[in-house]
Amino acid sequence: MPRFNLLNLPLLGRLFRWRWGRLVFQIGLLLIAALMLYDGFTGPPFPPENIATVVTWVHYRGIIVFGFLLLGNIFCMSCPFTIPRTLAKKWAVQGRRWPAALRNKWLAIGLLFLFFFLYEWLDLWASPWLTAWIIVAYFIASFVLEMVFSESAFCKYVCPLGTFNYVSSTISPFQISVADRNVCQTCVGKECLNGRSSIPGQPITRGSGNVLRLDDIQVLGCGTELFAPQMQSNLDCTLCLDCARACPHENVVLGLRPPLAELRRDAWPKRWDVSFLVLIFAFASIGNAFGMVPPVFTLEVWLGNLLDTTNEFFPLLIIFGVVMLLLPVGLGTAAAWLSRAASPHQAEPLQHTLARYAPAFAPLAFAIWLAHYGGFHFLSSAGTLVPVLQNFVQDHGYLWLGEPDWTWGALVPLTWLDGLELGVVLVGLMASLYVLGERGKLAADGRPAALMAQLPWLLLLVGLAWTAVWIFFLPMEMRGTPFAG
Ligand code: SF4
Ligand code: SF4
Repeated sequence: MPRFNLLNLPLLGRLFRWRWGRLVFQIGLLLIAALMLYDGFTGPPFPPENIATVVTWVHYRGIIVFGFLLLGNIFCMSCPFTIPRTLAKKWAVQGRRWPAALRNKWLAIGLLFLFFFLYEWLDLWASPWLTAWIIVAYFIASFVLEMVFSESAFCKYVCPLGTFNYVSSTISPFQISVADRNVCQTCVGKECLNGRSSIPGQPITRGSGNVLRLDDIQVLGCGTELFAPQMQSNLDCTLCLDCARACPHENVVLGLRPPLAELRRDAWPKRWDVSFLVLIFAFASIGNAFGMVPPVFTLEVWLGNLLDTTNEFFPLLIIFGVVMLLLPVGLGTAAAWLSRAASPHQAEPLQHTLARYAPAFAPLAFAIWLAHYGGFHFLSSAGTLVPVLQNFVQDHGYLWLGEPDWTWGALVPLTWLDGLELGVVLVGLMASLYVLGERGKLAADGRPAALMAQLPWLLLLVGLAWTAVWIFFLPMEMRGTPFAG
């Protein structure tokens, strides 16, 4: 059992366990989302002055990456898109399961790529109107999928934000587990998974049709179908804490775990889709940052001339397709093949070799996202929220917050940013190399670790870190402040 359980904290723990605890956080975000929608559709078109664009592309992304470091998946925990979940379940077509062919990460990978591509191609960061429509689309998609399917298919198999959050939260310090496995062995209802009803001892049967009237639902079970006593990873955990609320024995804990715990051991399924997801997450961190620096514009012009088009669509699709899909899949497969050839496990399936080393990419990948979203955009621009709110209030005829003061912007001197980003990427690289070494030892199973088997991965990790630092030291678009840099 973990030494420190967040659910045991005097006030916060009670709030987390309370039946309506999640709703408290969700309502907070719902009000913010409503404000963003209102300003996105009716407010100033200049993106650094609009609440929708500033909060989405500066604050949301910055706050979640710091959240992963301190706690875990705090956005999914408070996600306003899933507020209608219980309502949707009441109208649900009962018992319908997400199609078996889609019960993997391939669709999520495709949608994550699509999201990054549309963000760049449509300049979503520069359009309050489009940003507001994305929020609307999220509410509709999550509600419809919750209504049609018996599990939380939207969270587990569709949502690009969730996909990003699941991989990021694998580096987080807290994880769901149980206090006493013996209690789980004798537990009849498995309510953490199945949900708790108002009829004692009768959980909500999922899958083949509910045996209870839906009005009897007290707490839904785990929407992404994780079983608390068997959990070894934060992958697919939305941190909704429904498991903790549903468990009649108060046996679920949100415990502090050793640093990089799930990455050092075999906690992930040995599947192509899961391994490629983390590699694509790593290369997308480079691709996303590359979309904001001058060489990408030169490359786009060159590709445009080659294809004889002035439309950005195809050049950008090629660049993103190569960086975010082709390179991670191609280099990952090649590294796995070389690694297997140099290891004592030459007879094992290639997907097992890939799965053995893919988790080593999570710390570096997260560090690059942290340096970009948290270090660069958030620290350089988060203060703009002050004049944006002042402006919003003034536009509606009030002066409660005073005249907009557009000198607000950076939270730290801008001259610190390069050093901070470099430091974060280096720490991420060290953490990844540490995980790589630990996984090499695990594979050696007591024998001397085959260092040559780790070499292809080491070269890939160093190459990724070097590329990230190179990009961060180029002039990058600020995207969130009235000034450029
Ligand atoms: S966590 Fe609670 S509900 Fe789930 S199996 Fe264990 S005792 Fe039962
Ligand atoms: S295990 Fe499931 S129910 Fe528990 S916090 Fe994670 S997603 Fe929610």
